[in-house]
Amino acid sequence: MALRKLVAGNWKMHGTSSELAEVVAIAEAAAKADCDVALCLPATLIDRAVHAAPGLSIGGQDVHAAEHGAHTGDISAVMLEDVGASLTIVGHSERREAHGETDADVRAKAESALQKGLAVILCVGESLADREAGRALSVVAAQVDASLPRTDIGNLLSLAYEPIWAIGTGRVPSMADIGEMHGALRERLVAAYGDAGRNVRILYGGSVKPANAAEIFAVPDVDGALVGGASLKAADFLAIIAAAH
Ligand code: PEP
Repeated sequence: MALRKLVAGNWKMHGTSSELAEVVAIAEAAAKADCDVALCLPATLIDRAVHAAPGLSIGGQDVHAAEHGAHTGDISAVMLEDVGASLTIVGHSERREAHGETDADVRAKAESALQKGLAVILCVGESLADREAGRALSVVAAQVDASLPRTDIGNLLSLAYEPIWAIGTGRVPSMADIGEMHGALRERLVAAYGDAGRNVRILYGGSVKPANAAEIFAVPDVDGALVGGASLKAADFLAIIAAAH
């Protein structure tokens, strides 16, 4: 049976209080949507977004593996939970690249967030060089195997397949390539978690727009989307949400 889709926005380092109206508009539509909706916001905006849009799932974009300590600039799962966040992204390629995060780091972050009851969107994806060399499947499978949490996942884990070359570029893999990757990821999830792996949502991310969302959502084992640029404007994000059912 198809899983209920999740459409999650990733605002990255965009958004101040003047964009809260977009959050409220998204929340109003999300309440009537045929899918789950979440917004992963800059940490500075989470508290106000939670108060402005109490029905909407608000998340962070990263979390430290430790609960507290000497980690200047970092934020823990307890802190996210304290301001009302209910989820977090981990392992986004921008963090893996710009902050040198390894699969082991990503796994530790995911485990810490899950232990505190936060839902997790764990990102994996290949570079253009990997795709062109024909090793996308093996590279992503290795990332998944090394970064999946080995603690209880309950119903809190989602995986996001985000080819790095598709993020923010307007380029999207063929639907056949997305389907092949998501099918392979489902196999990895079942190998890791048994039947529970069938209930882990696998999101696609990378230049999802109103114009291509329906086609992407129709691919088997695409259980939603992680959306960057097109989540910043309520009108675009709502069109993507409307395509998910
Ligand atoms: C992302 O950053 O997770 C992403 C998918 O970005 P975009 O939708 O802008 O490609």
